[in-house]
Amino acid sequence: MKRFLIHTFGCQMNAHDSRRIAEVLYGDGYEQTDELELADLIVFNTCSVREKAEHKLVSALGRMRELKRARRELRVAVAGCMVQEHGDALLERLDLADVMIGPDNIPELPALLRDAQDGSRRLARIEFDLDGPRFLTANARPDGSEVSAYVTVMKGCDERCSFCIVPYTRGAERYRPAEDILREVESLAQGGVREVTLLGQTVNSWHDPGDASPEAARESRFADLLRAIAARVPQLARLRYTSPHPRHVTPALVRAHAELELLPAHVHLPVQSGSDRVLRRMIRRYSRAEYVARARALQAARAGLTLATDIIVGFPGETEADFEQTLSLVDEVGFSTAFGFKYSPRPHTPALKLGDDVPEEVKAERLARLFERCDVTQHRHLQSLVGTRTRVLFEGASKHNPGDRHAAPGAERAALFTGRTDRHEIVHVQVPTGCELTGHLLEVEIVEANRRSLLGRVAGELPAHARMPPAPSPATGSATRAPRRLPVVSV
Ligand code: SAM
Repeated sequence: MKRFLIHTFGCQMNAHDSRRIAEVLYGDGYEQTDELELADLIVFNTCSVREKAEHKLVSALGRMRELKRARRELRVAVAGCMVQEHGDALLERLDLADVMIGPDNIPELPALLRDAQDGSRRLARIEFDLDGPRFLTANARPDGSEVSAYVTVMKGCDERCSFCIVPYTRGAERYRPAEDILREVESLAQGGVREVTLLGQTVNSWHDPGDASPEAARESRFADLLRAIAARVPQLARLRYTSPHPRHVTPALVRAHAELELLPAHVHLPVQSGSDRVLRRMIRRYSRAEYVARARALQAARAGLTLATDIIVGFPGETEADFEQTLSLVDEVGFSTAFGFKYSPRPHTPALKLGDDVPEEVKAERLARLFERCDVTQHRHLQSLVGTRTRVLFEGASKHNPGDRHAAPGAERAALFTGRTDRHEIVHVQVPTGCELTGHLLEVEIVEANRRSLLGRVAGELPAHARMPPAPSPATGSATRAPRRLPVVSV
C-alpha cells in the first residue's frame, strides 16, 4: 500500500483542504503516515496570503532534495493557493514537484499522480470550478477519535480588500446548498465529532444558492443556516464559524447568538485596523464606529462573549496616529486574542499601487507594541477567570506540562488533557493516568492563569465513561496518536 504525508501551510481553509486531499488519497488506496521516510508521496499544501508563507514552502521543499535523490520513486505534489497564484510557471521554479493542483482541483490529484507515475512528466491542473462548484465532504475518522471538524459552506471571495490575494487565488464566491451542509454536519456528529466549525472566507455572507427570494438578495441567510443545524443535529456540542466579515454581522446573526446555546461565546471578527482612513484604503467597507457597534451587539447578545481579531500593521500610508487608533480600538473592544501581521504586498492586489512605504523596522516595532497591548488585555482576562467554573470540550492529550501542583487528589501519576472553553480559551487539566477526556464536555474549575492558557481541575467526580481510555484504534493499534514529523505550520 502507498503512503502519503501532508504538510500544510496557512489558514484553517488550508487545513480543511488538506483533510480533503487525504480523503481523496484514501479513496485511491493510499494510507497516511507521519513518517517522512515511509512516505511514497509528500503533499505540500501552500498559502500565498503573505510572502513569508511562500519562502517557507521553498525552504521546506529544499529539504526534500536529498530524500528525493535517495528515493527516485518518491513523488512530491504541491497544492493550494500558491499554485493558483503562479500557475504552470511554478513547475519551472519548483523543480522537485511532480504534480501541482489548485484548490479546486483536489479530486483530480490521483489521476495526475498516475499520469506522472514514471516521473518523466510533470503535470499541473489549476482551474476554478466556477460553473459547477464541488464541495468535498470529509468522513469522520472510523475510530471516532475526532473531536472537532471543519465544514465548508462557501468558496472564494467577492470582497475586494485592497491588501488581499484571496479573490485571485480562490476565485469568485460560490455557496453550498443548505441540505449538503446539513448532511455533512449530521454525518460527522454521528461519527463522534462534537464540534463543527463552518468555514468560508466571508462565511457569514452565506445564502442557499437555490434561494431566489428577495430577502436572500438583500442580506445573508447565515443565521438561518445556524438555526437549521441546531435543530437537525442536537447531539453536536458546539458550532463555530470562521471568518465572518463585519459587514455581514446582521441583526439576525446577533439574535442567533442570543438564542442558540450551541453557538459558543466567542467570535473571530477580523477588523484589520482601528483607523477609518486606513479602513477606507483597505476597502473594508465599514467604519471603526460600525465595527464597534457590531462587536457590542454580539457582546450584548451573549453574556461573557469574547472577540478575537486580525490586525495588519504597516499598511501603505499608515501613520503613527493611525496605528495609535488601532491600539485604542484594542483597548475599546478588549479582544481576547489578536492575530497581528505585518503588511506584505501581494501580486494582483489593488494596494500594490499604494507602494509599501512603511519601513520594515517600523512594521516590526508596531507589531511588537500591538502584541504587548494585546498580551496585557489577554492576561487580565485570563486572570479574571481564576476561581470560576466553565465548560470545557476536551480535544486530546496535552503537550503542555504544568507540573503536578493541581493533580487530582490521590493521583500517583497524572495524564494531561487540553480543551477549550465556550469562549475558546485553552484549558489544561490533570487527571489520573488511565483517564481519557478526549471528546468529553466537562465542568472545570479554573485554578491558575498562564500567559495564554488556563489550568483547571475537573469539578466534582469524573464521569465513569471518562475514567477509562477508549478502545484502541484499528488504524494505529493504540489510542495515542504518534506526533507528526512535519507539523502543520501556521504563518
Ligand atoms: N477573509 C478574512 C477577512 O479578511 O476577513 C481573512 C482571510 S486571510 C486568510 C487571514 C488574515 O490574513 C486577514 O484577516 C489579514 O489580517 C491577513 N492578511 C491578508 N492579506 C494580507 C497581506 N497582504 N499582508 C498581511 N496580512 C494579510
